[in-house]
Amino acid sequence: MKLSPLEKVTQLLERWNAEELKQLQSWLSVRIEQLESLAQEIELPPVKSGRVALSVHRFNSIVYRLEKVRCGKENCHRCPHGPYWYGYQRSNGKVVSFYVGKKLPENLM
Ligand SMILES: [Zn+2]
Repeated sequence: MKLSPLEKVTQLLERWNAEELKQLQSWLSVRIEQLESLAQEIELPPVKSGRVALSVHRFNSIVYRLEKVRCGKENCHRCPHGPYWYGYQRSNGKVVSFYVGKKLPENLM
């Protein structure tokens, strides 16, 4: 039987005492706050011309956006392409984007 990550963690935590669990609780609340404030910091760049955004998904400090893309080639009969997921994250004060693919990785869902 394969356990999910959450099941593995909860099995382990059943052996912890109240004091240890309280420490974990405060660590968790700090961690959650950190991640949520990071996610909010990301202002999504405007959708590039020729693209249509269909969906947005936030995970930790990364914003994922599902976009249909026009390649810009003349005589392209397959436009728009996709939709594809792109990730946006802050790096040195700038929002950088990266290509993800047709599907989000399962661990992000
Ligand atoms: Zn095209």
